[in-house]
Amino acid sequence: MNRVILIKYGELTTKKGNRNFFVGLLYKSIENKLKNYDVKIYKDLSRMYIEFDENDLDKILERINKVFGIHEYLVAYKVNTNEEEIKSKVIEIVKEEKFNSFKVETKRSYKEFPFKSLDFSRQVGGLILKNIDDIHVDVHNPDLTVNIEIRKDFTYIYTNYYYGLGGYPNNTLGKGLLMLSGGIDSPVAAYLAIKRGVHIEAIYFEAIPHTSINARNKVIELCKKLSIYTSSIKLHIVPFTEIQEAIYKTADQDYVITIMRRMMYRIAERMAKRRKCLAIVNGESIGQVASQTLTSMKVINSVTNYPVVRPVACLDKLEIMEIARKIDTYNISILPYEDCCTVFVPKHPVINPKLSLCLEMEERFDYQELIDKTLKNIKTITITEDDKKEFEDLL
Ligand code: ATP
Ligand code: MG
Repeated sequence: MNRVILIKYGELTTKKGNRNFFVGLLYKSIENKLKNYDVKIYKDLSRMYIEFDENDLDKILERINKVFGIHEYLVAYKVNTNEEEIKSKVIEIVKEEKFNSFKVETKRSYKEFPFKSLDFSRQVGGLILKNIDDIHVDVHNPDLTVNIEIRKDFTYIYTNYYYGLGGYPNNTLGKGLLMLSGGIDSPVAAYLAIKRGVHIEAIYFEAIPHTSINARNKVIELCKKLSIYTSSIKLHIVPFTEIQEAIYKTADQDYVITIMRRMMYRIAERMAKRRKCLAIVNGESIGQVASQTLTSMKVINSVTNYPVVRPVACLDKLEIMEIARKIDTYNISILPYEDCCTVFVPKHPVINPKLSLCLEMEERFDYQELIDKTLKNIKTITITEDDKKEFEDLL
């Protein structure tokens, strides 16, 4: 049938000096995404073309729809740049379509083609009218648009196109360390960061036996879902029990969460440096809970001067939930396993914590030594979307 998938870059094409770099990364992403299919991918500065096996088309389109950096994609008929071939293909295509009104749009980047774009559109339009009864031209609101892109060797004809996810290709901007809990917010934060070209490694704090292996499996499942949008995800599992118990024993009850989160940030910073991540990413949302008031965030954040990116900071919970449903993490996130934050939640967590009090309470145990020890015991696994492995041996 000789069709190809045509990919348009969108925002990427505004990056003049770096265009090759972006397009190269997008090529890699698509190549990786389609590695199990018999495809041939080639690119120029404004387009990518994928030759495919017709039997795989639906599956391939579904996968392309999960790649960041694509503005638009479409399935086009490819013919030689030859007047007669183009015209007969157009007639063949429109005969298969149901429509009352139509227009033809020609783009001619090959200037030696003997007709100007507008003239050629008119000629082809006339031919369509001659071949099909009871239709008319409507340039403003047609049922069908026949697009003809004339390039030097080949011409591409299509009637339909789809919007891609936009954003930047994976790894355009280096790595970020995502604080991933089993909740709704952090996977959404991850998705939004990945969309901007940040490659994600995840860090998960667990407090076995206060939290169960099910809670960890939930995080692994979330990583699988997220890895659909990136190549694979390294998940660093932090044994946080000892630190949490020490905090619980020594800190005032209303400060337990504040101090716990300060410890998480300290560990995240150390891990980010170790893994050469340029920022910490998390799912904090302003005002959502006591530890996310602006005062709390300031006091918690003050343990690090590492950049902290909070993609969902200004979204409402409902907006976050909508994205979670779209990326298919919602149903995993709402599974009812305890997280290390929820296990130790005090009745009245402080809303406006004081830094001086935090410092005083942290003096009550040797947290530096515990952090060093914890960092030594972090376990790392790499998760890909089709992973079948069980990771229970990490216990
Ligand atoms: P989520 O915010 O993901 O829905 P949550 O509501 O349980 O989960 P919060 O208490 O709102 O989590 O914590 C705010 C952010 O702190 C989370 O979005 C996540 O980035 C980070 N965080 C919380 N708990 C953990 C954990 N156990 N491991 C890693 N990061 C965590
Ligand atoms: Mg939250």
